[in-house]
Amino acid sequence: MNLATPVKEIPRVGTNYAKRLAKLEIKTVYDLIFHFPHRYEDFSKITPISRLKLNETSCIKGKILEIKTTRTWKRRIYLTEALVEDATAAIKVVWFNQPYLTKTLKKGEEVYLVGKVMIGKGGAFLSNPSYEKTDKKDLVHTARLVPIYPETAGLSSRWLRYILRPLLEKFENKIPEILPQELIKQQGLLPINEAVWQVHFPDSIKIAKEAQKRFAFQELFLIELFVLREKLRMAKEKAVPIPFNLELIQRFTKSLPFKLTDAQKKAAWRILKNLERPYPMNRLLQGDVGSGKTVVAVMAALNTIRAGWQVTFMAPTEILANQHFQSVARLLRGFRIDVGLLTGKSDRWISKKLNDPIEISRQKLLQRTKEGKIDILIGTHALIQDKVKFKKLGLVVLDEQHRFGVKQRAKLLSKTNNTTKKEIPHLLSMTATPIPRTLALTIYGDLDLSLIDELPRGRKQVVTKIVRPEEREATYEFIRQEIKKGRQAFIICPRIEDSGAQDLNLIAAFQGNSNRTRALTAWQGVKTVKEEYERLSQKVFPELKVVMLHGKMPGKEKERVMNNFKNKKIDILVSTSVVEVGVDIPNATIMMIEGAERFGLAQLHQFRGRVGRATYQSYCFLLTTQPYQKSSRRLRALIKTTNGFKLAEDDLKIRGPGDFSGVRQWGIPDLAMASLANLSFVETTRNAALELLHQDLKLKNYPYLKAAIKRFGKKVHLE
Ligand code: ADP
Ligand code: MG
Repeated sequence: MNLATPVKEIPRVGTNYAKRLAKLEIKTVYDLIFHFPHRYEDFSKITPISRLKLNETSCIKGKILEIKTTRTWKRRIYLTEALVEDATAAIKVVWFNQPYLTKTLKKGEEVYLVGKVMIGKGGAFLSNPSYEKTDKKDLVHTARLVPIYPETAGLSSRWLRYILRPLLEKFENKIPEILPQELIKQQGLLPINEAVWQVHFPDSIKIAKEAQKRFAFQELFLIELFVLREKLRMAKEKAVPIPFNLELIQRFTKSLPFKLTDAQKKAAWRILKNLERPYPMNRLLQGDVGSGKTVVAVMAALNTIRAGWQVTFMAPTEILANQHFQSVARLLRGFRIDVGLLTGKSDRWISKKLNDPIEISRQKLLQRTKEGKIDILIGTHALIQDKVKFKKLGLVVLDEQHRFGVKQRAKLLSKTNNTTKKEIPHLLSMTATPIPRTLALTIYGDLDLSLIDELPRGRKQVVTKIVRPEEREATYEFIRQEIKKGRQAFIICPRIEDSGAQDLNLIAAFQGNSNRTRALTAWQGVKTVKEEYERLSQKVFPELKVVMLHGKMPGKEKERVMNNFKNKKIDILVSTSVVEVGVDIPNATIMMIEGAERFGLAQLHQFRGRVGRATYQSYCFLLTTQPYQKSSRRLRALIKTTNGFKLAEDDLKIRGPGDFSGVRQWGIPDLAMASLANLSFVETTRNAALELLHQDLKLKNYPYLKAAIKRFGKKVHLE
């Protein structure tokens, strides 16, 4: 048996358990050894029987006075009952369905028992305790710090301890160290063999923490190495150099109805300079909501197109793809550029040179793209389909990049059949969700970052306010006044309709059926778009034009609503979260969010970013179905700061890195995930990784480390 041996060959595991382990991606001895407990129970203190408390789990030490197994005929289960006594008292002990127990535990023997004290017909008893004889040398379940593993169906912590202890003994001091020795010394880390032992069966909490720290360090270090190596590797790939056409860019800038901010100019300059290099750009443009990222991307696109290459621009929603299509066509009017739009369902348009958009068939659009006749193809996920091919793709723009997975991005980059020289398109990703520094240094470490840290002139801070139930009417009155002044409003509701059972079944499926009632109550009182639309249009604002928008409406219908809203034919848009990201309606000044406690901080900030996009004073009203106190921490953070970066850091603190816009999907191990909140720790691992790569880029002297990175890369889906 070695570390690569399949788990089913481990004594006492077998095929059944091997299947259950496989569900946790545990396939080899190595995987099993590296399946760590997520916490420990401290049973190192023995509780005298006389001091046991009801409903508490404790460890006792006592002598078995009697033990017998009976079978209850009614319920057909085996019942083993014992009486155990220590110097202070005696207690009844009950086990269910373990008839073999009377063979192992005999009258007169001394045992440790860990279990919960319950009360039954015959008084207090210790229920289904773990047991070990006191003369046993290697205690794992009792009278010590006991590891508790993440629970999964059919794999109890007790079973894992039972399997792991002999396994660890077998591999004692046989696990190869993957971290460089110097690093272990320099950082004062536990060596791998000691750490593995102590993480499973620690001698003290202190040393358990040290073992965890070692593995957290190791995991982050692997991430850093993985990402940084990828970055260095990409720098060796080829891409088409796109010359910076200064005259063109100046002409474009002059054609704009506004002056670019300094931050926009700087970001654009960096990107255009980056495109000139003969290796692929991989740059993330970060800028808070409304900071004007689109126009910067359009400059890069225009420059690329004029150099003779095609561009594709992907957005996460149909509404947004449509909006980009229109604004890109508008911004590039006068530059004789063909713009195509490809979305999921019905929309296939092309804007011909100088003309307004017209509809063409999907087939024609794809054909023209393949022939290189579409200069810039804008779309949703539909762009990823196999049918979409470019003649010569030079630049890929991803808007709201955190909404896309790594695979989708890679697929889009492989869409070109242009070159014989294996040139990779440049990639510009954009996001308004600022990435906390720790994440930027780790999982996004392969990206170059550009920042738009300034809003266009004349923007006013959005006033954010929690509206109490008694202030609802006054708020409607306020909205009415704003609309009288010519402004528009969004009202967001968390749900589409009261589809009752259907929704609840869905929720129950996520949370487990037992939570159905809880789910039911949790959704009570949450506004639905349909109800709210009826109420607002008929009762509250009968004199105004109120329209509803949600994701289940047909694509064309959504598009019509958005166009009407943009053209001010609609006063109030009652919508679901479909307008969360990217939507640009500069004339809107009110963002009213029902059930605000249901949205994450980043989401709320995005919603708020839908207003305040011109010089008008704008407002964000938060309504909650829960009492004010409960949800207040997140909402208070939102009120306190309008700066997205500051909010992202707050979000990280409130929810932890795992919930940070899709980070969970990456499958990063728990210890690394937890330490992602710790900036100095992250910096330390990163510096260590950089130093090592500078010494030995190919890791020739570190074969175990190299293998570990490879394994790790397969498991983790990093950007
Ligand atoms: P985001 O960064 O959120 O994607 P957009 O690119 O949609 O922002 O721009 C937001 C709004 O600001 C748009 O209406 C856009 O036309 C406008 N805008 C962009 N840059 C400027 C600028 N320098 N001055 C004034 N308005 C601008
Ligand atoms: Mg945008």
